[in-house]
This record gives sequence, structure tokens and C-alpha cells, in this order.
Amino acid sequence: MANGAKGVLFVVSAPSGAGKTTIVRKVISQLPGVSLSISCTTRAPRPSEQEGVDYFFITREEFSAMEQAGRFIEWAQVHGDLYGTPRANLEKLRHGENLVLEIDTQGARKIREVFSDGVLVFILPPSLEVLKGRLQARGGDSEEAIAARLHNAQEELDQMAWYDYIVVNKEIEEATRQLASIIIAEQCKTARVLTKG
Ligand code: 5GP
Repeated sequence: MANGAKGVLFVVSAPSGAGKTTIVRKVISQLPGVSLSISCTTRAPRPSEQEGVDYFFITREEFSAMEQAGRFIEWAQVHGDLYGTPRANLEKLRHGENLVLEIDTQGARKIREVFSDGVLVFILPPSLEVLKGRLQARGGDSEEAIAARLHNAQEELDQMAWYDYIVVNKEIEEATRQLASIIIAEQCKTARVLTKG
């Protein structure tokens, strides 16, 4: 298997506000042996967010030092802030743990280059109108930030064709069930079971 990994690497992308974080967290709480990769970001925490749970909130200087030391497997600028996946997070794969990366489409492309057998899932909001309503209801983002996220959403949607799976989040329980099913089915693939030994 690529990179000597034993666990399965899942990438989940979605336009901001599509419900990705809620769905991913529900799935992880339901499935044993699946954990979440916590990213580093230079974005300020939202009121409900916790250090080390949602992100590691770091300064631009810290981010740049980590980047220069090669400590990110991928990183990208999103909505003006920097986000990166610490290389160390991927260690879990070597120990047979399955890992979910909640990252944007730029990051997903980089991961696909490095982990050819990673599984890419795109979560789609039912419509841009619904997305706007969810972004406004979430709080913590300014009107400008919401407008930028909506603009970015269109660009993200243009990327979904090269993902392996698409989950439409019309209803959270159903979308959660679909993502969990994808994760379970991928673990049962013949090639993965046989190479795991
Ligand atoms: P938010 O600020 O809403 O938490 O996230 C903004 C965007 O950054 C989302 O699309 C999210 O998936 C993405 N993101 C979060 N962490 C990472 C990361 O480590 N790498 C990349 N490339 N994108 C990330």
C-alpha cells in the first residue's frame, strides 16, 4: 500500500457552511478506529471553538516556521488565512488508525498526489441559498467574511468532479449515514483487507 500506510486516509471537503464539521464529528463518534486530523490555522477562533479540538490556533510566524521546517504534509491559504495539516498527524495511519482530513480542495489535490489510495469525499449543500443561511446562523463571521466564503463556495463546487464520492447534505442524519457507509465500505475493499494482512 502507498507510503507503507495501514489505515485508510479520508479527505472530506465542502464549501464553508455545508455542514461538514458536524457530519464528520458525528461519524467519528460513531465509528471506532477513525480519528480526526486537527489542522493548524492562523484564523482567529470562533466563540465556540477550542484550542487543540477544532484547530491549533497559531500565529503567521509560527505557521511560517513550521512550513519552512517541512512540518506540513499540505497547506493552503483559504479566505486569507493559512491552514495546514501537520505531517505528524499522519503517523496514526502507520498504526492502522483511519484518519479523516477536513481540508479544502487545494489541500485535497496535494494529498491525492502523495496518497494515491486516499479516499476523497465532497459534501454538497442542497443550494447556495441554504449555504448562505447556515453561514449567517453560525455567527462569528463578519458580513465580508460571509460574502468571501460564498464566493469561494462557487470555486469549490467546480472542483467536486474529481472527488471519489459526493454526499448531499439535505438532512444531517442521512448525510452522516452516507459518510459513515463510505468509510466502512472503503475499509472492506479487498485490496485493503489483503494488504493489511
Ligand atoms: P474554516 O475557517 O471554516 O474552519 O475553514 C475554512 C476552510 O479551510 C475549509 O474549507 C476547511 O476545510 C479548510 N481547512 C481546514 N483545515 C485545513 C488544512 O489543514 N488544510 C487545508 N488545505 N484546508 C484546511
